Amino acid sequence: MKQLWAPWRLEYVAAADEQEGCVFCLAEAGDDEERLVVHRGERAFVLLNKFPYASGHLMVAPKRHVGELGGLDADEALEIHRLAVQGMAALMEAFGPQGYNLGWNLGRIAGAGIVDHVHMHVVPRWAGDTNFMPVLADVKVLPEALAETRRKLAAGWPLAG
Ligand SMILES: [Zn+2]
Repeated sequence: MKQLWAPWRLEYVAAADEQEGCVFCLAEAGDDEERLVVHRGERAFVLLNKFPYASGHLMVAPKRHVGELGGLDADEALEIHRLAVQGMAALMEAFGPQGYNLGWNLGRIAGAGIVDHVHMHVVPRWAGDTNFMPVLADVKVLPEALAETRRKLAAGWPLAG
């Protein structure tokens, strides 16, 4: 079992401490393209991770600023899971991944960059992706790749159902 290894995330964790405000609340209130929001639901929304483990790495967050997983109400918890499933369908349509990792990083020790607004990760996986992922860290390529990925996933988002 290979470990995901993403050195640029160290920069992200350091930057998250210095940032003014919560990136999820800023995204919730902000512009889709600027904040990399892919889809907005009723109580939750989906955005691209700016510092991804893999191309197409999505995060699903409640609109409310909730720091505890147990603080989500039943409607929020259900919608986050439904949006994660829709996100996998959009990823399949756009990029055809071979698998996914879905999960919650709760607490800084568990790898959470943002600890006070819970969010679920949806990470698409391909065979050998630990080998090509470092390429994504190229700062010259990444912003355009993110904008294009956001556009593709937003355009290919499935109808709710
Ligand atoms: Zn927040």
